Amino acid sequence: MYPALHLYIDGQFISGDGRREQDVFNPASGQVIAKLPHATTQDLDRALAAAARAFESWKKSSPLERSKVLRKVAELARERAPDIGRAMTMDQGKPLAESTGEVMLCADHAEWHAEECRRIYGRVIPARMDGVRQLVLREPVGVCAAFSPWNFPFNQAIRKISAAVGAGCTMILKGPEDAPSAVVALAQLFHDAGLPPGVLNLVWGVPSEVSDHLINSPIVRKISFTGSVAVGKMLAAKAASLMKRSTMELGGHAPVIVCDDADIDAAVKLLVPFKFRNAGQVCISPTRFYVQEGVYERFVADFVAKTKAVKVGDGLHADTRMGPLAQSRRVGAVAGFIDDAQTRGATVLAGGAPIPGQGNFFEPTVLTDLADDSRLMTEEPFGPVAGIVRFKTLDDAIRRANSLPFGLASYAFTGSTRNAQAIASGLEAGMVSINHLGMALAETPFGGIKDSGIGSEGGSETFDGYLNTKFVTQLN
Ligand code: NAD
Repeated sequence: MYPALHLYIDGQFISGDGRREQDVFNPASGQVIAKLPHATTQDLDRALAAAARAFESWKKSSPLERSKVLRKVAELARERAPDIGRAMTMDQGKPLAESTGEVMLCADHAEWHAEECRRIYGRVIPARMDGVRQLVLREPVGVCAAFSPWNFPFNQAIRKISAAVGAGCTMILKGPEDAPSAVVALAQLFHDAGLPPGVLNLVWGVPSEVSDHLINSPIVRKISFTGSVAVGKMLAAKAASLMKRSTMELGGHAPVIVCDDADIDAAVKLLVPFKFRNAGQVCISPTRFYVQEGVYERFVADFVAKTKAVKVGDGLHADTRMGPLAQSRRVGAVAGFIDDAQTRGATVLAGGAPIPGQGNFFEPTVLTDLADDSRLMTEEPFGPVAGIVRFKTLDDAIRRANSLPFGLASYAFTGSTRNAQAIASGLEAGMVSINHLGMALAETPFGGIKDSGIGSEGGSETFDGYLNTKFVTQLN
């Protein structure tokens, strides 16, 4: 039922054949479900050589040709979504509806890039002198090295691949060893859609060893990483020291501001499933809830009641609304936030502990009476935990929301246009969603500011990180 796992280099799928292998676990059962082959140093060098060779022709391919491949990927992704989703639930843990939904949504990403890559325009700048033509050209940066994470294995990888492929770049992708099936399926989609050999290469291994090897190679001109702030800063520093471009999609700690004049029923109805989606292992997950005094008690009571009704279980079961944490190491990490909060006097109103038995299950958790400097309110929990605190004035809520070094997603609920405008302009974040939860769509830019990263994926900005600007001036 679970697919075989491969490397994909120069158009060839490669299996173990004596290579070092890593166990892949089902987080719902703790059982080993597959072996994942690691790339050898020779494999990495073959991938680099293949990507460099393929770039020489792919950079000259017409946007129409690239568009056709991306469109075909979208079509095949929709067809294969049930199988890809099932395997993703088995190695990552999220409920089946979320896994298949991720693949379906990502078909939109491939399609968006198929459309937008035909609109990568340059410009003509009027010259000061008769007979001079001044052109601005946008050219692919070259071979890219990308590192995608385990929380949205399909989504995070397809955004990077589609942007590189659409721009005329080639790529070596290291996917998430914890949840690899969706990325192997992606390589198969691009292969079947007719992507020429070497344009996309997929490798696995020890993350630090693979990233060192690829980033240090003079062949690689651009790095793209999605993951933790700590690792992102390290990779960005390395890329900068070698004067390579980088796009960084890093962690967040999304504030939610709920004003007295908000529709509380509607807000809670939206926020509870969104909070516990993918067991909270989402960089845009709402994590710090600032609720105005007048509606605080009602919001907390409703939020807690709905949280207690979230059905936790194996993602393959039809009634499951929240699966296990993706790795056993996350169970201790999430419990650490709750311990810290409790020692500082926080109150646990729902959940608060790992669920005994097999698998990495954790209770959907709500805490209140939190100190602003508790770990839960200052570090990204990346788990099924919501911290709720009160505020008096909107200025105070915005100040507290902005007090952390993160700036990825942020949310607010208010019935007033005046408040909405103050929030939209006052919050230091790459994305602000007011009175609904609308981000991460193919046509909208996704990215953070401050410690949350550099650059955007999606939207018409999506190719910016994959293109160089060249100025050509010519006297006839
Ligand atoms: P981690 O910091 O060890 O790893 C985070 C990601 O970076 C993983 O995908 C890992 O494979 C990769 N990675 C680690 N070291 C690397 C290196 N030297 N070179 C290249 N890639 C490397 O943490 P973790 O336990 O896997 O995840 C927990 C934390 O990661 C969370 O607290 C969260 O903040 C962050 N995270 C964020 C996202 C996101 O979407 N922004 C996704 C996954 C994890």
